[in-house]
Amino acid sequence: MLSPSARFSALALLAIVAPAAIVAVLGYVSIRQWEVSSELLYREQARDMATMAAEKVEMTLRRAEDAFLDRLQVALRSGTPSERAVDALIADSPLIRRLYLVNPRGELLYPRAWREGDLAVFGPLVSGAALRRLERDGKRGVISNNLVCLALLTQRGGQPVVAAYLRDPDTMRREILETTLGTLESSTNIAVLDHEGRTVYSRAPIGDARRVLSVGFREALPDWRLAVYQTSGASPRQAVRRQVMFFTGALGVLVAVIVAGIVMTWRLMRRETEMARLKSDFVANVSHDLKTPLSVIRMFGETLEMGRVADEGRRQEYYRVITREGERLSRLIDNVLDFSRIEGGRQTYDMTPTAVEPLIRATLEAFGYPLAQQGFKVEVSVAADLPEVTMDADAVGQALANLIDNAIKYSGDDRALTIDARIAEGRLVIAVSDRGLGIAPEEQAKIFEKFYRVGRSDTQGRRGSGVGLALVRHIVEAHGGTIAVESAPGDGSRFSLRLPLGGT
Ligand code: ADP
Repeated sequence: MLSPSARFSALALLAIVAPAAIVAVLGYVSIRQWEVSSELLYREQARDMATMAAEKVEMTLRRAEDAFLDRLQVALRSGTPSERAVDALIADSPLIRRLYLVNPRGELLYPRAWREGDLAVFGPLVSGAALRRLERDGKRGVISNNLVCLALLTQRGGQPVVAAYLRDPDTMRREILETTLGTLESSTNIAVLDHEGRTVYSRAPIGDARRVLSVGFREALPDWRLAVYQTSGASPRQAVRRQVMFFTGALGVLVAVIVAGIVMTWRLMRRETEMARLKSDFVANVSHDLKTPLSVIRMFGETLEMGRVADEGRRQEYYRVITREGERLSRLIDNVLDFSRIEGGRQTYDMTPTAVEPLIRATLEAFGYPLAQQGFKVEVSVAADLPEVTMDADAVGQALANLIDNAIKYSGDDRALTIDARIAEGRLVIAVSDRGLGIAPEEQAKIFEKFYRVGRSDTQGRRGSGVGLALVRHIVEAHGGTIAVESAPGDGSRFSLRLPLGGT
C-alpha cells in the first residue's frame, strides 16, 4: 500500500508531467515539420521572385536596346546615315558604348575605321558565316561576356547590315540592374553574377550571407546569373529554430513550475503527515508525563495515609517527593498551557525591570532536590555588575527552568550543570551548559520546533513532550532576543539566551 504522499506524487506525475511530456514531444515533432516545410516554401518563393526579377531585367535591357536599334534602323532605311547622325544617336543612348556597322562584304560602313583592338574582337563576329547564322537564328546575338552584341538590320534597298555594339557596363549596372532590382519589393538580397561568378551588382553588401539559389537569364544575358542571398540569422529555418528555442524554454519553465509545485505540495503533505504524527506522539508523551508523577504522588500519599511509615525521617522524605512531583506536574501543565496560549496568540507578557541573579538562583532552587539526588556538580557564575533587565520574570524563569530540566534529563554519567550570565554585545546572555548526551548538528535546528524530539521517548527512555524548547524560543523571541545551541554528541550542550537589556 502506497503512502498518501507517494500516491499523490504518482498521481501528479501521471496527471501533469505525462501530458506535459506528450505536449513537448508533439510540439517538437510538429515544429520540425514546420521547419522543413517553411524552408521549402521559402526556397520556392525565392525561386519565383528570382525568375521574375531576371525577366524584368531582361525586358528592361531589351527595351533600351530595341529603342536604340529601332532608331538606327529608321536611319538606315532612309539611306546611308551620316557619321554625325550615328554619333548623335550613340550619344543619345548611354547603354551603347561603341557601334560598328558592317555590310555583307565585310566593309565597315561606320565609323571610318576600327578602333584599336576592336577589329580582333568584332572582325570574326561580322564575317559572312556569322552573318548567315544571324539570318538563320533570329537577327540578334549576344556574344562575349554579355557586353558585345550583334543585330541584323537592313539598309535602303534591302541590303543587310550588321550592327555590332558594345554595352556600357556602368550604364548597365546603373540604369538596368539598379532601376529594376533596386526597386523590387523584397527584403532578400539579390545580386547579379557574371560568367565567372563575380558580383556585377548587388542590392546590399553580401558579406557572409548564404546564397540560397541562383537562376539564369535568357538570351539578353546568356551566361550571367541572378542569385538570392540570405543574411545570417534571417532564414526561415533560423526563425523557426528561434521559435523552437522559445517554445522549449517556455515549456521548460512550465514543467519546472509544475514540478516545483508538485515538490512543494509533496513537502507540505509530508510536513502535515509528520506534524500529525508528532501531535499524536505529543498526546501520548504528555499523558505519560502526567501519569508518572501522579502515580508517585498517589502511592506515597496512600502509604502516608495508611500510617505505615513510622520513621519521621522517611515521612519527611515522602512529603518532599510528593511536593517535588507536584511541582513537576505544575511545570508540565504550565508548559502545555503556555504553549497553547502562545500558539493561539493569547499570551501576554508583563515586562518589569528584573534582577537577574535572584531569578537564576530561584529557578535553580526548584531543581535542588533532583540535582543533589543525582549528584550533579552545579556551578553558577553571574557577572557582578549585571544591571536590572526588563523582562517578564515568570516567562524567562520558565524558559530557564526548561533548559535546566533538559540539562538534567539529557545528562549521562558526567553530571554537571553550569549557568553563567553576563553582558555581551549589549545583551544579557544566560547560558545553560551540561556535559550530557549532546545533539547531532543536523538535529540542532529542529529541536526548537514544536513537538520535535530527538529520537522517541521510548528509544531514549527520557520523558518529555517536545514543546519545551519551542516554548523557550517563543518566550525569547517575544522579548526581542534569540536562542542558540552549541553542542556535539557525547560532549554536552550549551544553550544561550540573548535578551535585550531594555526589553522590547
Ligand atoms: P522534550 O520534552 O523532548 O525535552 P524539548 O523541546 O525540551 O522537548 O527538547 C527537544 C529535544 O531536544 C529533546 O527531545 C532532546 O532530544 C533534545 N534536547 C534538548 N535539550 C537537550 C540537552 N540539554 N542535551 C541533549 N539533548 C537535548
